[in-house]
Amino acid sequence: PGAGKGTQATRLTQWLKVPHLSTGEALREAKAGGSRVGLEAALYMDGGKLVPDDLVLQIVADRLSEPEYQCGCLLDGFPRTLNQDEALDKLLTQRSRRLDLVLELACDQQELVRRLLDRAKKEGRVDDTPAIITHRFEAFLQQTAPLLQYYRDRGLLHSVDGMQPPDAVFEEICRIVDSVRSG
Ligand code: ADP
Repeated sequence: PGAGKGTQATRLTQWLKVPHLSTGEALREAKAGGSRVGLEAALYMDGGKLVPDDLVLQIVADRLSEPEYQCGCLLDGFPRTLNQDEALDKLLTQRSRRLDLVLELACDQQELVRRLLDRAKKEGRVDDTPAIITHRFEAFLQQTAPLLQYYRDRGLLHSVDGMQPPDAVFEEICRIVDSVRSG
């Protein structure tokens, strides 16, 4: 949370001309639309907890079936649990696709808290309060961080220093993507 994945994903998808699938955005849209899935997801999101895998997976499976996703896409904030990763593997295998690379934006926690509180003033996201930010970090450390080693072992993980200014982060990401594409 707060590392800049939304900002960087938006820039990267414009550059690569592929769809941007942010599970966080999709869940916030579902909540705003008032659907059953959206309202159930809100119970977790608003408390800084991860939304149950089945709800998130339904959203991802629906999107991946859309025609515009057939030429690839960028997944932002997904998968966030080992279970989600297993399910993604199945979805991709069914569609004869695979993950090309995984990007980690590495940041100090203190800096992340500062950015999230700053964003709270500008955007007013309901989950950007000190208590809920703490829950989001706990969820990251317990449920998502174990995926890093898993992707490292598979040779897919590329780590970027997320403490740099946004333009420098983006340049580094582009270099990594280019090297994977030409490799
Ligand atoms: P951040 O990473 O800053 O918390 P996101 O927009 O990626 O922002 O996610 C916001 C919230 O949406 C998360 O705290 C979580 O409740 C929910 N969410 C997003 N992606 C997932 C996912 N893959 N699995 C479970 N919950 C998710």
